[in-house]
Amino acid sequence: MELNGSPITLDWIDKDVRRILGRALEGSELTVDEGIRLTEVQGRELHALSLVADEMRRRQAGDVVTYVVNRNINFTNVCIKHCTFCAFSRDHREEEGYFLPLDEVVRRAVEAWDMGATEVCIQAGLPPKLDGSYYVDLCRAIKAAVPEMHLHAFSPEEVLYGSTRADLSIPEFLKTLRAAGLGTLPGTSAEILDQEVRDRIARGRITVDQWIEVITSAHALGIRTTSTIMYGHVETPAHWIRHMDLLRGIQRQTGGFTEFVPLSLIHHEAPMYRRGLVPGVREGATGVEVIKMHALARLILGPSFRNIQSSWVKEGPKMAQYLLTAGANDVGGTLINESISTSAGAGFGQLVPPAELRRLIREAGRVPARRDTLYNLLKVYAAVGDDEALSTSGQFRFLHPSKTEAPTRS
Ligand code: SF4
Repeated sequence: MELNGSPITLDWIDKDVRRILGRALEGSELTVDEGIRLTEVQGRELHALSLVADEMRRRQAGDVVTYVVNRNINFTNVCIKHCTFCAFSRDHREEEGYFLPLDEVVRRAVEAWDMGATEVCIQAGLPPKLDGSYYVDLCRAIKAAVPEMHLHAFSPEEVLYGSTRADLSIPEFLKTLRAAGLGTLPGTSAEILDQEVRDRIARGRITVDQWIEVITSAHALGIRTTSTIMYGHVETPAHWIRHMDLLRGIQRQTGGFTEFVPLSLIHHEAPMYRRGLVPGVREGATGVEVIKMHALARLILGPSFRNIQSSWVKEGPKMAQYLLTAGANDVGGTLINESISTSAGAGFGQLVPPAELRRLIREAGRVPARRDTLYNLLKVYAAVGDDEALSTSGQFRFLHPSKTEAPTRS
């Protein structure tokens, strides 16, 4: 390669790494061993990995970077489990435990709709003795008040708990939720899909097999899900790649995943770190690991997932912006009232207004677009003048497609 007549050789890239990156550029599926080899890159090889990931992002997803206007509603923090990475949950005897009344959940959903949100993301703890029908009632109540709101709700752990409490099989419970208005499931409670790692960081948590059962049952019913990984604790890079390989295998069978969201551990308040509960736990992922994770996700999952998200909640808006050059094509949601990462000590606030997300996308040289939960494009903001009016106080106004423009489908 030459720049203005000055040669830049690629000799510094290890032969093996060059071969693997070349295979990725040819569109070949990387093997687990090849993925693991790429987790070892450092320095200028890391730039090469990012560059190839960016090229594959361009080919697979184009230059548009999407976001969704949504609201998180974590209706209770009371939980019977004791996942050591979770700073959000409280035992039912603790004073800080809360349980939002159903009316308040509905009020927040209506308020979100009025502010232009197209999705509410509902996840919570597992309160003792909860009636399994509560999850169904919640869906019905929200849909009765805001029928067009997309319900992106209930982690696989909650689906498993709800089905047990309702004495229904997982598919039966999912069908009941769908009939009540459930749209999609968050593919959370995945952490690292390796039973040994799970037993170290969250004994008693939904098992790998149960997680797969909930996700594939949902996909079989046409309920799509996201997928996630939580990293930067006790896992090794080889776990990342095996985790991605497992997701890739499910996607091959079902095509039900909408996106992959890497979530690095926020360690500050996590009991595993703060109370020293898990020997050898790291202080979250390093910056280099965060870049590698997104770039590798693009190479390994991009061909079948298309959408790789960079999370401003976990990484902060600046890093989330940088990750757009390392394989990501989505910046997630505005997330009014995000509580789970905030409880763990994430310092990036509880919302980023849409105008701010559009600005950071534009500053990365890309085209912002508002999407719905299923990645249909609602509005592409090709020029700065396309922006809708926003209040300066950070509240969203007049953003809803039914109030401003007809939605376009991608
Ligand atoms: S991660 Fe979920 S299941 Fe585990 S303790 Fe926290 S709220 Fe409970």
